[in-house]
Amino acid sequence: MIKLKHYSLVIGILFLIPVCFFAQGKIAITIDDLPIAAGGRKCSPQVQTQIIEKLVGSLKKMHAPVIGFVNENQLYDDQKVSKVKIDLLKIWLNAGFDLGNHTYSHKSANQVSVKEYEEDILNGEKICKSLVSGYGKEYKYFRHPYLQTGRSLEVKHEIESFLNNNGYTIAPVTIDNSEWIYAAAYEKAVSSGKTDSSKIVAKEYLLYMKSKIEWYEKKSFELFGRNISHILLIHANRLNSDYIEKLCSIISEKNYDFITLGEALKDKAYKSEDTFIKAGGISWIDRWALTSGKSKEFFKDEPRTEKWVMDYAGIDSE
Ligand SMILES: [Zn+2]
Repeated sequence: MIKLKHYSLVIGILFLIPVCFFAQGKIAITIDDLPIAAGGRKCSPQVQTQIIEKLVGSLKKMHAPVIGFVNENQLYDDQKVSKVKIDLLKIWLNAGFDLGNHTYSHKSANQVSVKEYEEDILNGEKICKSLVSGYGKEYKYFRHPYLQTGRSLEVKHEIESFLNNNGYTIAPVTIDNSEWIYAAAYEKAVSSGKTDSSKIVAKEYLLYMKSKIEWYEKKSFELFGRNISHILLIHANRLNSDYIEKLCSIISEKNYDFITLGEALKDKAYKSEDTFIKAGGISWIDRWALTSGKSKEFFKDEPRTEKWVMDYAGIDSE
């Protein structure tokens, strides 16, 4: 009997060792351009609802506590608030998910004056702030469109202060990617009835995302000596509606736990200095690397979007 107990204990420990050794990741999934990203806007209200219901349902099933970032200008039809679009947002809220501000009309901080950008931020909370509070939640996270944060330190800091004074926390991104190009290719294939093509695009998408996650993991180790809590950016589109479950499975198989944006931001890596003011909308890992003086060597071999996907989507740069 004692022997059997010991035997069970040894077996138990043997099972635990690989779990402890490989359980290494935490990731928050963030989804931009709600109520629905560009490709889906041409679809009928019924199809838009199906896309969002499936996306949200799959995320719920995978226990991923996501946040969606809204562009409020998408909530109007003929200058009137659209019930259909508000109902799309309620799908997220009814599932217990958070919503955040992505500006009213998706302007770039690099392209407009600070005043115009600040107006776009405030116009972006007119509907959602009260909608979200009705669910006992706060509308407190802000995602910069195009991940562009200002072309000078003065502008960047002015916008940061404005956001802070208005109760917002910036939502950075560590795992940046060109998923939107795969989404455009997928939408084209689906809307033209090419099922085989859509499956090929989706398969390529999943491989690409896996390689991006692995690349940023590696960069995290190079920069911090550990795998930090990541924040992934994707969009509210048909590609993710159909394949988020598979993408979440890939992430889970890499031993990641899904966490909220707020939990991810507790990682002290997010306190790292970021003085990046060039044009690109890049990952915060890249920003921290550039700020700390990393050479070009650090950035080489980043996975790129397959050329044929770009050609098929009719997009010529990432
Ligand atoms: Zn966006």
